[in-house]
Amino acid sequence: METSSGHLKIQPIVSFPSRPRLLARGFTRRCAWCGDRKSYFLGWFKRQERCQSCGHAYRRGDEAFELGALTANIILTFSSLLGTVLVLVVLTAPDIPVLGVMIAAGAVGLFGPAVFYPVSFTLWQAVDLWMRRPTPAELAGEGDASL
Ligand SMILES: [Zn+2]
Repeated sequence: METSSGHLKIQPIVSFPSRPRLLARGFTRRCAWCGDRKSYFLGWFKRQERCQSCGHAYRRGDEAFELGALTANIILTFSSLLGTVLVLVVLTAPDIPVLGVMIAAGAVGLFGPAVFYPVSFTLWQAVDLWMRRPTPAELAGEGDASL
């Protein structure tokens, strides 16, 4: 929602989600604040500072937010890599096709970071809101938190 001056108006958050709901929103690429599906993304890789629906910022005054998102991306990619190898080994044991497992693991390692890119941001935002609870002013849409 935009004001007449073109700036996004920050919507007050009336009912702040529970911690499991925060994580569910983060894992499904939704805004942790309002649950909107578009959240911060104009495309798969193109993001903006504020949610397109509620106007809350993902950064919340944290200059190093991307470091947390990068860490979330690494954890998601490595977990997928481990899961892929484990599933393939368990399904094909005792005659494990090592080359096939390596190719599958390589594909996950190569494309995983790109696939998880938007989710890593929404997930890290959910974790941030889990750990740093929003202030009443922030919930009211009167400014961002600061570190
Ligand atoms: Zn939102």
